[in-house]
Amino acid sequence: MITKSDIRELANFHSPEGCGVTFYYQPTAPPNRSHRDEAILVKDLVNNALREAEKKGTNLKSVQPDLQRILELADALRSNGRKGKAIFACSALGFWREFDLPSRLPKSNLLLNQRFHLKPLAAVFDGMQHACVALVDRTKARVFEITDGVIVEKLDFINELSRRGRSDGWGGYDAGHVERRVMNETLQHFKVVSDAITSHFQSGGCDKLLIGCHDDIWSEFEPQLHSYVRQRLVGHFRADPKLATEREVYQSAMELLQLHDDDRKQAMITDVIGEAHRNGRGAIGLRRVLRSLEAGEVQTLMIASTFNAPGVKCYHCGHMDYHIAPACVMCGKPNTELEDLGDAIVGHAIRHGLELVYIGDDEQFDKVGRIAALLRFRADQSTPAKVAV
Ligand SMILES: [Zn+2]
Repeated sequence: MITKSDIRELANFHSPEGCGVTFYYQPTAPPNRSHRDEAILVKDLVNNALREAEKKGTNLKSVQPDLQRILELADALRSNGRKGKAIFACSALGFWREFDLPSRLPKSNLLLNQRFHLKPLAAVFDGMQHACVALVDRTKARVFEITDGVIVEKLDFINELSRRGRSDGWGGYDAGHVERRVMNETLQHFKVVSDAITSHFQSGGCDKLLIGCHDDIWSEFEPQLHSYVRQRLVGHFRADPKLATEREVYQSAMELLQLHDDDRKQAMITDVIGEAHRNGRGAIGLRRVLRSLEAGEVQTLMIASTFNAPGVKCYHCGHMDYHIAPACVMCGKPNTELEDLGDAIVGHAIRHGLELVYIGDDEQFDKVGRIAALLRFRADQSTPAKVAV
């Protein structure tokens, strides 16, 4: 599986000759294509890429070995368990990276350029979840981990103390005393569960927590969560740890994660538009976002899955522009035409360690140009810095 450091490496790749090969394979649905059809599709992509490269005057000798290797892989793609694939290659620089991906890519595609095309990866990354799910009741707890579509049960424990407490307390003389003891033991159990969740969190690198329990348990259990994990709490759903199946836990957790994600993005859209309108820390639309990126103001880049805008990039000074001109307006060196500036913008965001948020279909976001940025500061408003310069 591809990691964030892989993505950073890919974003930093540069082939001045334009020999960087980006290949994405997205399995078609329904799966009724034969292996032969798949091979034809890849062959078409390779031929198109070669034609484009010839038009641009790219040195074909240095891209042919990579394209040949991709053609040879075509047969194996179909039998890859309905997974997507991404290949980033440049034989001239001895570079070949191959990744299996969840099949969430926009389409199969093959491109040659100075940089790799990383926008489709942003969609894959955005959908990835690494969450911890704990089911809790007064005597039992189970802890699960969800990593990119797969759920695994990690812990399953019963609080032996409270079980014993109940049985030997039954013949007892003081009902109030027994009740108090059971309450204390329940609290003790919740604390043990909370500790287990915390240590699981710290070792596993989960970034979100969900709790499954009955409503009456929630109010008792929630205060026992350590503040470290409470900050990562997405919410709770109704579940019985004694009865819930792994599949049920997965479905409830994914629904809640999706809702949480949608809410978060909706709030960000409202926020960025509000900030932009009051001339605050928000930039909306391609022109403003490009300006903010170059001024180093951007904290979070928001880009729609449907964003697409042709433009140019100067690989000498890094300037990106939606005005298609042969020479860079900043440094006068020749520009490279790009089919979609989105790839260059996503690459820039990854190289500079900006937070990247992918927005699905959203009418409000469409209206502001399908691209926006939350800013750390506004260069035109930070007067002390300007005076210092
Ligand atoms: Zn330039």
